[in-house]
Amino acid sequence: MKGFVYTIVLIILSYQITLAQVFDPKQIHQSCKYFEHYTTKASPSPAGKHYDVSYCCCFWEVDPNIRYIKGNILYHFTIIHETTDSLIFDFSDTLQIDSVWYHSTSLNYSKNDDLLIIYLQSSLAEGATDSITIYYQGVPRISDDRSFVQDYHDTANVPSHVIWTLSQQYGAKEWWPCNQNLNDKIDSIDIYVKAPSQYKTASIGLLQSEIENNGLITTHWKHKYPVTAYLVAFATTNYTVTEQYHHFENGDSLLIQNYFYEEDTNFLDELYYLPPALDLYYELFGDYPFINEKYGHTQFHWPGGMEHQTMSFMYNLSHHLTVHELAHQWFGDYLTCGSWEDIWLNEGFADFCVGLTYEYFFDQYYWMPLKKECIDKITSEPDGSVYCSDTTDIYRIFNNRLSYKKGSYLLNMLRWELGDSAFFHAINEYLYDGSNAYSFSKTHNLINHFEMAGDTSLTEFFNDWYYGEGYPLYNITWQQDLESKDVSITVNQSTTHNSVNFYEMHIPIKFCGGNRDTIIVFHHLFDGQVFQTNPGIRLDSLQFDPELIIVTKNPVINSIQNQISESTKVKVYPNPTSNIIHLEANMNDIIKDITIYNINGQLIRKVPDKASYTHQIQLSDFPSGIYTITFNINYTPAYKTFSLTKCN
Ligand SMILES: [Zn+2]
Repeated sequence: MKGFVYTIVLIILSYQITLAQVFDPKQIHQSCKYFEHYTTKASPSPAGKHYDVSYCCCFWEVDPNIRYIKGNILYHFTIIHETTDSLIFDFSDTLQIDSVWYHSTSLNYSKNDDLLIIYLQSSLAEGATDSITIYYQGVPRISDDRSFVQDYHDTANVPSHVIWTLSQQYGAKEWWPCNQNLNDKIDSIDIYVKAPSQYKTASIGLLQSEIENNGLITTHWKHKYPVTAYLVAFATTNYTVTEQYHHFENGDSLLIQNYFYEEDTNFLDELYYLPPALDLYYELFGDYPFINEKYGHTQFHWPGGMEHQTMSFMYNLSHHLTVHELAHQWFGDYLTCGSWEDIWLNEGFADFCVGLTYEYFFDQYYWMPLKKECIDKITSEPDGSVYCSDTTDIYRIFNNRLSYKKGSYLLNMLRWELGDSAFFHAINEYLYDGSNAYSFSKTHNLINHFEMAGDTSLTEFFNDWYYGEGYPLYNITWQQDLESKDVSITVNQSTTHNSVNFYEMHIPIKFCGGNRDTIIVFHHLFDGQVFQTNPGIRLDSLQFDPELIIVTKNPVINSIQNQISESTKVKVYPNPTSNIIHLEANMNDIIKDITIYNINGQLIRKVPDKASYTHQIQLSDFPSGIYTITFNINYTPAYKTFSLTKCN
């Protein structure tokens, strides 16, 4: 799902850099309205505790002129876990049950607290397969202005009515009895929608038939892939329909079906964003998961998009929205987050895929602006984790800064840490893991795949970037010995939230001098770590993370001035040495504040403070290696490196 409010900044940014994208200010108003009014809170229910749905046949009767639904749902199921004498479904208290049938027997039921409990005539044992049919009708809850929407759009100034559904995350129960917990997918589903014959109905799966009878049309859609309740949807209005095929490199063809408002003849103008994204995702993540059926777009006017399985409901076909919802077919639909705590497995991945399109398309013209916009948003507040700790709060679950942007950036940083080969290998293993295919997943499962592919522990990384809140702040000091061009860099890091002490990261630093530059990567393991390197360039400046890989804000970089003339006054000898190192300047100079670091940048010794033009330091307890000695010469910081070779 992607609300339009989420993409405003990027769209404005894109507009400034002449991306041909028209932005309608009304969209801001609409999306704000939605977020102000939609305050439903809910938590997982006991629905589905005793059954596993294998098949579902839905029959719905609607008229877009009226906010009303009448339906019957046939469920085929297997009893799981233990013998039971009741079946529980999520179902809104505002809808009425007409009857419940077990074969030819009417069953008793009760309704309370948005749950429908059906009492079986006799208990069913674990493993039993059976079926049940629920007849119901009513006015879907008015206060919920999203799950079941009855509204209108203009056809040449004459309003045309429309009904659409959007159930994520707890809204399916508002219009049909189902199990909306993230623990059971319906293995296959038939959907019949009866409506006045001037309308067309879009839904998931493949269109089977549209049969008119007495001024009504019954549209039949069939979906033969597992689907979770919140990804089942339909929309009914006077749609215009187009069909075309996308041909993949392996020879597969995919039907692309678009349902758009009759009057909105420009709706498909930006459909050209879809084919390259289909090819890119196919190349990186494998076959389109529902290749035997279709992919499609259905226009609605909730200001955003929703990734209903095989048929995304779309406000428009802007690049960002189109490729985000398409990515959900792999990340969210085919493989669904196993709890709302893990929502980033849907949204973080979908936004990460948006980033991939910016990386691969447009000659990368928008890639850096997208990354900057993303980091600016993440760092606009000092706290917040990708991990969603409060699944009763829709604002937290769909928090754009955390579940979408920080989630996507977690993946960018993990890709950087693991390298492309291990990173994409892990994602493919994760997608096609036997227990994940067309099922649910949780974050620990993803971590396992990354750890296996990277042959490394990621506990620390996920503690910092997934469970931890905030981000690192960097303060870097550098100085160069102009004779040797050796550079010493001290990297300090603080964090914006006390849940993380330190972020261990590989940090890229760009060394610039004259018209030359080079990037060197350092493994930053502790605050105050000192790195030695020789970029072979006389430096003018340093730039931290020029490609915007790491989430941070305003890194501070200072060079130590005048280090050249002062440091050259000091002789450090012998070099290499086997035991003692001497520092010596002219008699009127003062050397003090001497500190020695090993090659890993760890502080080894602070020499007791004594101002003198000469110092002699015993190294008998040091192992052989390269060392950096830092000091103040006439109150100006400077450093030298030396080599210690022990004689055994
Ligand atoms: Zn989304």
